[in-house]
Amino acid sequence: MVVRMRRNRSQTAKRRSHHAIVPARLAKCGCGASRVSHRACRQCGTYNGRVVVDVVARATRDARRAKRRSAGLRESGQTPDKSTAKT
Ligand SMILES: [Zn+2]
Repeated sequence: MVVRMRRNRSQTAKRRSHHAIVPARLAKCGCGASRVSHRACRQCGTYNGRVVVDVVARATRDARRAKRRSAGLRESGQTPDKSTAKT
């Protein structure tokens, strides 16, 4: 790098002043749960007053996958990890 291209501490700090992590914007859903704005509710699966995610089907699918995963781990001799399983 040429000296002409070098950035001083002030310029670096000015660039990094925009690098802060902002907390996720949370909104209140109609079902009472807090949800991330511009995303469907994880509790009831609605977005903008419409049901867009079949929550019951997703829950059953997740349960089936967790069961299969733990069965596979048991077959391979590893103990199934409970901490990664979603409720
Ligand atoms: Zn909801």
